Amino acid sequence: MVLSAEQDISARIAGLREDLNAVILAHNYQLAEVQEIADFTGDSLELSVKASDTSADVILFCGVRFMAETAYILSPDKMVLLPRLESGCPMADMAEADELRDMKREQPDALVVTYVNSSAEVKAESDICVTSANAVKIVESLPKNKPIIFVPDRNLGAYVRRETGRDNITLWPGYCPTHLRITATTVKARKKEFPDAEVLVHPECSLDVIDLADTVLSTGGMLRYVAVSKAMRFIVATEMGLIHRLSQENPEKQFIPASEQAICPMMKMHRLEDVLAALEGKKHVVEIPEKTRIKAKSPIERMLEAS
Ligand code: SF4
Repeated sequence: MVLSAEQDISARIAGLREDLNAVILAHNYQLAEVQEIADFTGDSLELSVKASDTSADVILFCGVRFMAETAYILSPDKMVLLPRLESGCPMADMAEADELRDMKREQPDALVVTYVNSSAEVKAESDICVTSANAVKIVESLPKNKPIIFVPDRNLGAYVRRETGRDNITLWPGYCPTHLRITATTVKARKKEFPDAEVLVHPECSLDVIDLADTVLSTGGMLRYVAVSKAMRFIVATEMGLIHRLSQENPEKQFIPASEQAICPMMKMHRLEDVLAALEGKKHVVEIPEKTRIKAKSPIERMLEAS
């Protein structure tokens, strides 16, 4: 049997994965063919949990850099590979540790709650991390009289502020450029076109988009929700990559992207060829200085305990 080029690469990846005792983790926003060869696909929280309890020697992370860093922070004895080292998250880059230290000096009583979409250095300055799946629950569990600095996503922070009713949350001015492309105007147009569809919105969207949602969920939450919903049509307000898994797991249901512009170029960097090259050469290793790693580990572990 003659294999196609893609099948050939996939077969070589499978062989190397076994030889190296590697596990391939892929975020729900990855290219469809990359999701297909992964051992696990999931959102940031689900992949953090996998990274923390794997018995593999090598973790190959198909996601953006902060995700691979989180895997290394939790499992420093593993080799963590990122197929394209330049795949950073623009929102994570909007917060720098120096600036955060300045804000902490201005608000010495505040707790720093940091979205996992952040650098290891910023996590190291934080009290607790959150993901889009657990942010509301975790902030609700914190003492009400303590002010909070929420870093770096102003949209997720604004949503948490509204859901928890806390007015003592200072928002960092970061945002996701991909979710910013989903506007209330495009969602309203989709709703008009498909009035029977349920609207699923990721909390990285702005509040005026969130206001149009039937439900607000992380990508992992969307997958679980759709599996049990009686609705047959969904307008999906998040990065386009999730549509692949939603359609695969629910072939009888229809998924309409809220915006076809919502494509994260950083998430789409890793191609099968890059995965193969990283495994073959054991290259593009992600590591963090030990002092930073130890400091960044505590807020992640606090989050995992509270989730
Ligand atoms: S979708 Fe947004 S938050 Fe996620 S990696 Fe891309 S830029 Fe960062």
